[in-house]
Amino acid sequence: QEDKFKKVVSHAKEYGFIFQSSEIYDGLSAVYDYAQNGAELKNSIREYWWKSMVQMNENIVGIDAAIFMHPTTWKASGHVDAFNDPLIDNKDSKKRYRADVLIEDYAEKLNIKAEKEIAKAAKRFGDAFDRSEFVNTNPRVVGYLSKKEAVLSRMARSLENEDLKDVKALIEELEIACPLSGSKNWTDVKQFNLMFGTKLGASAESAMDLYLRPETAQGIFVNFANVQKTGRMKIPFGIAQTGKAFRNEIVARQFIFRMREFEQMEMQFFVRPGEELKWYELWKETRLKWHLSLGLGENKYRFHDHDKLAHYANAAADIEFEFPFGFKELEGIHSRTDFDLKAHEEHSGKKLQFFDHEMNKNYVPYVVETSIGLDRMFLAVFSSALQEETLEDGSERVVLKLPPVLAPTKAAILPLIKKDGLPEIAREIMDELKFDFSVAYDEKDAIGRRYRRQDAIGTPFCITVDHDTKNDGMVTIRYRDTMEQNRIKIEDLRSIISKEVSM
Ligand code: ATP
Repeated sequence: QEDKFKKVVSHAKEYGFIFQSSEIYDGLSAVYDYAQNGAELKNSIREYWWKSMVQMNENIVGIDAAIFMHPTTWKASGHVDAFNDPLIDNKDSKKRYRADVLIEDYAEKLNIKAEKEIAKAAKRFGDAFDRSEFVNTNPRVVGYLSKKEAVLSRMARSLENEDLKDVKALIEELEIACPLSGSKNWTDVKQFNLMFGTKLGASAESAMDLYLRPETAQGIFVNFANVQKTGRMKIPFGIAQTGKAFRNEIVARQFIFRMREFEQMEMQFFVRPGEELKWYELWKETRLKWHLSLGLGENKYRFHDHDKLAHYANAAADIEFEFPFGFKELEGIHSRTDFDLKAHEEHSGKKLQFFDHEMNKNYVPYVVETSIGLDRMFLAVFSSALQEETLEDGSERVVLKLPPVLAPTKAAILPLIKKDGLPEIAREIMDELKFDFSVAYDEKDAIGRRYRRQDAIGTPFCITVDHDTKNDGMVTIRYRDTMEQNRIKIEDLRSIISKEVSM
């Protein structure tokens, strides 16, 4: 799995999807740039989300709020006081950890130990091996697994009570039971606020302390009344937005999974108080369907319902995806009650209410939100699409099986050779198609190598112009996934491509 992850990272760089930011200066940790193919893929994912949320839903509208917001916003939302992660330093290695992540790593290691025992036993017993029987009765495995459960529930309790001494004690205990960092010398656990601060204004006296927004949601809450009135929206209705968010994450690892500057795609759905749980269930289902529609595989997703809820929520679940490093949060669906609108009412002194004609009364709506990281979605799509295949002739091919609707280039137009008028015909086809699809032209190298290059960036179709094209007006279309080749009329290209790449 680690190997697969390394391949994902290097493929992303080698084929122009993602570069380390400011690489010539040795980069900036947890900050990345999207390259020529990456920017296209990222745009397509954003568009796929936007269309299915805004265009396809009459009662959802989209906005684009500023990154800078009045500083009181973050007081009201609770971010100034509570947007913290527990931080711990190792004095020997001088490494810094997020305490909760570190404890989860220990728990995972205990799980791996259990899995190893199970695998060893399975080998010994062969066909007669009964996994569940073994897991339930073998004392070592039971020990590892129950320790894991105990560790996680103790951590959750301690973090909830903000009992940071206990978190430190737990880490010290775990380091002895299951060495990870190799040293025992820890600092106390501290709370660390994740917001980036900056200043607005030129003169020192009048400058205002601001934060870069750590989530896009607040830009929607503060615009609730404006959008509701000007759009004449009736409850239930939603406001959607995509945009950058910034968090000074303590540990930066796992590539674009956890970045310091990232993009969110969020939708806040405003409902009648008391109806929020019905909508929460509906949005959970709707969002899972959206993911499944991309065809990355049903077994790659699972729900994780939260037992421990944030201060603003009365129900919450994550859609987890199987990344190369295991199942992790991709999207959150939260029932946020009226917490945010009420808090903004209090801090701003402005009413954020809705007059419900059917009920003949005013109320502060409840909110169900769906929140997905665009970069995480990129990683989900990219890592599951990247595949290595051994072909019938024994050769290997690396292919990026992106959903065609998201592919950066929809079709590559390839003249078989660089002369005899074939490039001219290829250019003509290209000029025809480029108004509807992003297409590429390539005449360098043997045709087989050109096919492989397109496979590696996920182009679903290659269209080859050969000498017969001049006589019969037909080209060869090659399908990326099956490598099947068909001869078709040039005038049929548009409809064939369009069928595969539209939503
Ligand atoms: P995590 O527990 O992984 O830090 P979170 O629960 O803090 O995530 P939310 O605040 O619910 O995340 O944000 C909603 C979504 O935004 C997440 O599901 C994730 O896809 C994305 N996201 C959050 N933080 C980051 C980050 N640092 N880098 C990339 N995407 C992120």
